Amino acid sequence: MIKGKSVINGKKTHAINTTSFYTYNAIKSSQLPQKYDNATLEEIEYSCEIASQVFLDYATTSSTTRAAFLMEIKVELENNKTAIIEQYKIESGYPDGRAQGEFSRTLNQIQSFVDLLIEGSYVDAILDVGIEEVPDLRKMKHPIGPVVVFGASNFPLAFSTAGGDTISALAAGCPVILKGHPYHAGTSELVAQAIQSAINKSGLSAGIFAHLHGESIGIGQRLAEHSKVKGVGFTGSYKAGKALYDIAQKRKEPIPVFAEMGSVNPIFILPNRLVSDSNLPTQIAGSIKMGTGQFCTNPGLIVVSGTNTNTFVEELKSEILNGETSFMVHPNISKNYESQLQNMKNQGASIYRTNLDSNSPAMGVIFAEEVLKNTAFLEEVFGPFSLVVLCANNSELTAISEVLPGQLTATILGNPSELKENSQFLTAVQQKVGRLLFEGMPTGVSVTPSMNHGGPFPASTDSRFTSVGISSIERWLRSVCLQDCPHDLLPDALKNENPLNIFRTVNNQLTQSSI
Ligand code: NAP
Repeated sequence: MIKGKSVINGKKTHAINTTSFYTYNAIKSSQLPQKYDNATLEEIEYSCEIASQVFLDYATTSSTTRAAFLMEIKVELENNKTAIIEQYKIESGYPDGRAQGEFSRTLNQIQSFVDLLIEGSYVDAILDVGIEEVPDLRKMKHPIGPVVVFGASNFPLAFSTAGGDTISALAAGCPVILKGHPYHAGTSELVAQAIQSAINKSGLSAGIFAHLHGESIGIGQRLAEHSKVKGVGFTGSYKAGKALYDIAQKRKEPIPVFAEMGSVNPIFILPNRLVSDSNLPTQIAGSIKMGTGQFCTNPGLIVVSGTNTNTFVEELKSEILNGETSFMVHPNISKNYESQLQNMKNQGASIYRTNLDSNSPAMGVIFAEEVLKNTAFLEEVFGPFSLVVLCANNSELTAISEVLPGQLTATILGNPSELKENSQFLTAVQQKVGRLLFEGMPTGVSVTPSMNHGGPFPASTDSRFTSVGISSIERWLRSVCLQDCPHDLLPDALKNENPLNIFRTVNNQLTQSSI
């Protein structure tokens, strides 16, 4: 049952003299009756203190203990699926298919970390032993400490309370303080209850997970600057991600902020492919309109060159404008969409839209030379919108790629021979992105070990890491090397006998053997 209270150390808090907020029925655009209390400064302080107090105990639990805990979270989520999905649909306006899909994805993500922990080699044990004139050196990865995670507005499950950031941090051995997104506070609270129940059943300390409600940027800012917090995971706007990053870097002890921010995910279409592939307008329009454009990987920029651009523009326009208006997760997101569209128009792009209902899909068209003069055209319009950039030739196409800021993805569509002829262009675009596609559309991020969801700034604050897939655990780990450590004090992962039977690098050889 939703109470509208933050939960710290396993207990509902009763903040005194706090302000409150409400969530919305996204489809009716009407306020819901449940009131949520904003976390107070005392609650923020308590959540960070308690997370710090329990950190060492949690950090030294075995990987199998944490795997069993994550399994328990999965079970608790499944047990509460009906209530979670119902609240999710009301607060987000997403249809049942999307709700079911995101729920399954959330469970699959958890399972992938369970498997990772059971296999165990993620600690990256490296041993240099018995080498003449070299001390006994053994290193492995350890959790960094309490982590703050921000729920994302556009993914109330998969990138929120039990989403990839939370689960990867808990898998690593880091306590998590979750700042719920105020657009889906009810969904967030129900998911948090499932996590708390899993903690109880696993016999772990209640302090390893806190859930704070809040509709005030002050809460996130105070969390990011708290001395007991050692890392931050965030998905959302550039403005908020960069603000949190700046706060964290100005602290007496700076900490990493892994913020995944905006991206226009350009699709470059080379001239022969533009002529030969008549399915492109339908495919691209489907990707732009999917989920009312509320995806970080939504293709917001289509760059075309060659003789067929006019036909392509007309066909894409007809596909984009043909369709029903659907809902956005919150009136504020919808308002932002309208103002970003207006801004695009004010800059001088031609904007096409059949009806002016808020949230309705739109398309812009602009010549490449205008974009090269004013790179504000390359800013994200979060919603079902894409700007088509018309290039006079392939040199202009290359010039656009050169002025592009860092991106989560880029897609290059070309026939095999023209891809080969443009290999330098391909390499240049690769420098700007975290994922480069040669077929298909950027929306739909597979949760598999090889996925990379991140990219050079401003797509994310640290392009070396991904926020999707099992490698995302690396954000919350750091290496410690033990030199000449007495053998009985070594963690199991570094012992000669290799009791965990994990893969380790011993004297430069990857092996599962004991020493
Ligand atoms: P947001 O503004 O980035 O907010 C996300 C979270 O960050 C919220 O919990 C918010 O706190 C907090 N926050 C915001 N500004 C902050 C600041 N200066 N310092 C510390 N914390 C801060 O995202 P949103 O509310 O989801 O949507 C707003 C816009 O962000 C959208 O219209 C869209 O343009 C963009 N967005 C982009 C993506 C993407 O993947 N590219 C995803 C989601 C949103 P409170 O809510 O408690 O105030």
